[in-house]
Amino acid sequence: MSERTLRIGALYPDLLNIYADRGNLLMLQRRCAWRGIGFEVTRSTIGDELDPDAHDLLYLGGGQDRDQQLCALDLTTVKKDAVHAHAARGGAILAVCGGYQLLGHHYGLQPGVTLPGLGLLDVHTERGEGRLIGNVAIEVEGRTLAGFENHGGRTILAPGQEPLGRVLAGHGNTGSSGHEGARTGNVIGTYLHGPLLPKNAWFADWLIAAALGIDPGELAPLDDAFEDAAHAGARRAAGV
Ligand code: GLN
Repeated sequence: MSERTLRIGALYPDLLNIYADRGNLLMLQRRCAWRGIGFEVTRSTIGDELDPDAHDLLYLGGGQDRDQQLCALDLTTVKKDAVHAHAARGGAILAVCGGYQLLGHHYGLQPGVTLPGLGLLDVHTERGEGRLIGNVAIEVEGRTLAGFENHGGRTILAPGQEPLGRVLAGHGNTGSSGHEGARTGNVIGTYLHGPLLPKNAWFADWLIAAALGIDPGELAPLDDAFEDAAHAGARRAAGV
């Protein structure tokens, strides 16, 4: 495995980074380093061209409405074709909260203000009354993801769009659909912050494997005592 390198493209890390989302990248970096897998991060912000073939995983974090507004225009003009090409060749994408909303068709921020999205996930988001805040746990293919959510947007999945998981506790996409996040192949959107990956080591490994195009079982096992404790704590916080 040592000849492998996980190449990350971090999109708008200066603008989309609330709720310690940078911890997700640190988690990936450490788990690769402990296994002798190389790790590279390229940061790409407003105005930067994106190379569609340069990354195994694109990462978008969460953001305030006003920062999302700045990113939405750039994402759907300067970077649109590259991100679509990345996804079309099976490249992985993890988008959290504000980033998730921008992977859909649009985000209706307020009457008369609609942010364009990439349309990579067949979802759209509308601003709702009040915010959906709190600890959350979801079931994903028989396993649990636990995290924290805080969003004003409600994300509606088109018929046929697969959610990431089923809400066990918390609000999820709308507060009433029972669904959290969305997934199409290796393209994943979720509202789970926390950050997500340090609280869910199994999902970090799933993502590393998906991005490298290998089976998660090929990754060397690690001593996950601390990670397991973080996961248990996040589940307890969500009451699951
Ligand atoms: N600004 C978006 C919302 O409120 C996303 C928030 C976030 O990324 N935490 O819905």
